[in-house]
Amino acid sequence: MEVLIIGAGIGGLTLGLMLHRAGIACRIFEAASELKAVGVGINILPHASRELCALGLEEALTKVAVITREFCFYNRFGQYIYNEPAGRFAGYDVPQFSIHRGDLQMVLLDAFVARAGADKVVLGHRCTKVDYDGDEAVAYFEDVNGNPLPAQRGTVAISAEGIHSTLRKQLYPNEGPPKYSGINMWRGVTRWKPFMSGASMIRVGWHHPAKLLIYPIRNNIDAEGRQLVNWVCDIETPKYKARDWNRGGNLEDFIHVLEDWKFDWLDVPAFIRASDAILEYPMVDQDPLPRWSFGRLTLLGDAAHPMYPRGANGAAQAILDCRALSDALAANADPLAAFKAYEDKRRPATSAVVLANRSAPPDAILHEVYRRTGDKPFKNIDDVISREELVALSESYKRVAGYDKERLQARG
Ligand SMILES: Cc1cc2nc3c(=O)[nH]c(=O)nc-3n(C[C@H](O)[C@H](O)[C@H](O)COP(=O)(O)OP(=O)(O)OC[C@H]3O[C@@H](n4cnc5c(N)ncnc54)[C@H](O)[C@@H]3O)c2cc1C
Repeated sequence: MEVLIIGAGIGGLTLGLMLHRAGIACRIFEAASELKAVGVGINILPHASRELCALGLEEALTKVAVITREFCFYNRFGQYIYNEPAGRFAGYDVPQFSIHRGDLQMVLLDAFVARAGADKVVLGHRCTKVDYDGDEAVAYFEDVNGNPLPAQRGTVAISAEGIHSTLRKQLYPNEGPPKYSGINMWRGVTRWKPFMSGASMIRVGWHHPAKLLIYPIRNNIDAEGRQLVNWVCDIETPKYKARDWNRGGNLEDFIHVLEDWKFDWLDVPAFIRASDAILEYPMVDQDPLPRWSFGRLTLLGDAAHPMYPRGANGAAQAILDCRALSDALAANADPLAAFKAYEDKRRPATSAVVLANRSAPPDAILHEVYRRTGDKPFKNIDDVISREELVALSESYKRVAGYDKERLQARG
């Protein structure tokens, strides 16, 4: 068996590592002519970090990431609502990593190249179509200038192309544009002195007027011991531009909403103004698909289940897909039976996360407090919502996304 993986992002590289571990040959084809550390912050929650640690990557990740210590929730007046520990601090057997997406991609790439060989990552190959020829998948490619490249044959092809998947479009030509949530997002990274625990993932406020997510992703980046701190500002608005991870954003479009967010732990407007660069993208997703596998082609990661980036689950669910798919390919001599087993396991699970991110995400805590207080400061949080309710809201998302501690530990 040889697996053709299309896309050397988080999913494609993780799948490569898992197939290599299972003794299954693969090659990864990537559209970009060079893999650069693009993107900003990403969180690897315990269900996914467990898979990466099992691949022997804990040490490499620990060198470049921040080991997340806690989740903290505040309203927009800076009033404390709720806090809970994260990763090993919460009793999981693995850490949670807050990491630059590029650093994660480079850790995966380095490990894959060291284990499988540099020739197994083929750059500058944009896949345009996958066909089937008897027992083989045939993938067609073009270079960065749009010139055709020789077709490649394998036993199966996996689209790990992310949100702009060409192969998803091949399978679902009439799907239509992504669905806008009504929330536009601005994000960036700021070099800043550690604050709070120096490893806190902090959520503040609700989308009207604004919600902020802040967490550090690199430690000790300079002589002053500053960190690289990721931030995302969500604002409810009908105005948005097409989804593009690299689209630049303007400070003037949103900073006015944050001007009085000056807390004793962070001067938010000063922090945002110090950002290296600002990116902008809409919170969009697509409805869960009825089917991922067609003949010798299947979908994985964002290509299979694009979701709102609000539960730190985009990369995590891609990593869990990889585990299910590599297990299924290792256990089934017939790749089509493997696809069926993979899809039976992962399609319902990821559909539930897509829908939970729409209706009951982990920041539902903030929505509940916003709703009950009418977006006004409170005297005592216990008069607004009980600790038990807060815990229940947090635990319910963990169960849907698959990182509730008991079930995860029980899996072994
Ligand atoms: C440039 C970029 C920046 C991102 N920044 C963030 C971020 O800051 N925070 C965050 O939470 N998530 C970010 N993401 C998304 C995040 O990586 C994914 O949600 C998640 O990791 C799922 O991974 P994936 O493998 O499905 O897709 P991705 O990690 O997006 O990887 C897809 C890969 O496929 C390649 N590709 C696409 N089409 C083709 C084709 N036809 N042929 C060959 N190769 C192709 C792409 O170049 C990319 O390398 C970013 C993605 C990208 C591509």
